[in-house]
Amino acid sequence: MRSARFMRDEYDILIVGGGMVGASLAAALAPLPVRVAVIEAFPPASAAQPSYDDRSTAVAHGSRKIFEAMGCWQALVEAATPIERIHVSDRGRFGFARLDADDFGTGALGYVVENRRLGQALWRVLGEAGDTDLLCPARVCGVESQPHRALVDVALDGGRMVTLRAALVVAADGARSPVREQLRIPVTIRDYGQTALIANVTPAEPHGNEAFERFTDHGPLAMLPLSAGRCSLVWTLPPDLAQEISESADARFLDDLQSAFGYRLGRLTRVGQRQTYPLKLAQARQQSSGRVLLIGNACHSLHPVAGQGFNLGMRDVASLADVVCDAVAGGDDPGAVDVLERYQAWREQDHKRVVSFTDALVRLFTNPLAPVKAARGLGLLGLDLLPGAKTRFARQSMGLAGRLPRLARGIALT
Ligand SMILES: Cc1cc2nc3c(=O)[nH]c(=O)nc-3n(C[C@H](O)[C@H](O)[C@H](O)COP(=O)(O)OP(=O)(O)OC[C@H]3O[C@@H](n4cnc5c(N)ncnc54)[C@H](O)[C@@H]3O)c2cc1C
Repeated sequence: MRSARFMRDEYDILIVGGGMVGASLAAALAPLPVRVAVIEAFPPASAAQPSYDDRSTAVAHGSRKIFEAMGCWQALVEAATPIERIHVSDRGRFGFARLDADDFGTGALGYVVENRRLGQALWRVLGEAGDTDLLCPARVCGVESQPHRALVDVALDGGRMVTLRAALVVAADGARSPVREQLRIPVTIRDYGQTALIANVTPAEPHGNEAFERFTDHGPLAMLPLSAGRCSLVWTLPPDLAQEISESADARFLDDLQSAFGYRLGRLTRVGQRQTYPLKLAQARQQSSGRVLLIGNACHSLHPVAGQGFNLGMRDVASLADVVCDAVAGGDDPGAVDVLERYQAWREQDHKRVVSFTDALVRLFTNPLAPVKAARGLGLLGLDLLPGAKTRFARQSMGLAGRLPRLARGIALT
């Protein structure tokens, strides 16, 4: 890895943020004839790295196809636990639904990967590919879009400042995107008034590669299968309760979790480190400003209930790589207005669909009114019994809905 060094002052594409989405974009662009640099504030193995932290991510079948076509899946596969079945239920009510990979002709509906391992694998791929300049640790402090170039001010390790130029700047700098803020791109925010509590938990019985999504009175609770018989817990709670439960002694924590989750995996025996994340929907009202484009959480940050955030970001990656590939093949400027408009028009529907699907799920399953609770039980039953509804739900969850870019169809770009 070329750490904390910049190799040139002019690039075709500068990626701000080497988190899960930015690093994936760099890997997707690596085979194309474009000069790319990634600017990332924290090394991938640093304890302060906000993307590669203690969370795990459910990587949808569609994202696996993208990684495969990029030639990265081999590096990820040993860290990935397949999800073969998903069980969705409403605590204390009759409705439930089951999705089975066998019904959809895929070996797995998705995969669970610990974020730290995902980061290590992606940065290893980038380091080995060797053609991408990796400026890390380095922090972007200013961005300006001019008619023919965008300028990016970077503070390198040690405090030295440099200004880099690029035809296109891609901001993959997360939900609080400093680049978005600098360019004064407006954002719509909905605070869900909920907190996600995450931890790895070991149940007495094997998870059998089944994922559980359970809707409780406080909010959704997901238990995703992980390696070594562990499960990755994402438990949505009111902020005060999340804080209290997260700080409680292990035995008390396991008791509370057991009564919310039940005994589908037998007794819960161990819990690891816990972390909490306040939950908001944040959506940029425009995807670009001049030669600067927002992708991943910088553009749309979602509630984790349906495990869609990173997967939506991976479709941003695949679509952008597709559009850039065509632009450079035709001798066009990858940051030209018409190139960016093509990308944005393509992404708009998917963004709208996933944001409304996720938001509707949160509202439906956190609504305390009795008729709504009864209706969602029926909804789950309907989902289980109606093959059409189930297929649509599964295609959405697996990231296979809508018009897909080449990488998402398993086609390499070169
Ligand atoms: C509890 C929880 C569970 C989740 N589970 C799932 C799931 O199962 N499936 C799923 O699809 N999604 C899930 N998500 C969503 C997923 O984590 C995000 O969509 C994903 O992390 C977005 O990645 P990103 O690279 O866009 O942003 P980030 O992960 O925020 O990365 C941004 C990067 O930019 C860097 N950066 C920021 N500012 C600068 C700067 N000025 N200069 C240089 N670098 C900078 C940061 O250091 C960081 O590395 C979950 C989210 C939460 C909170």
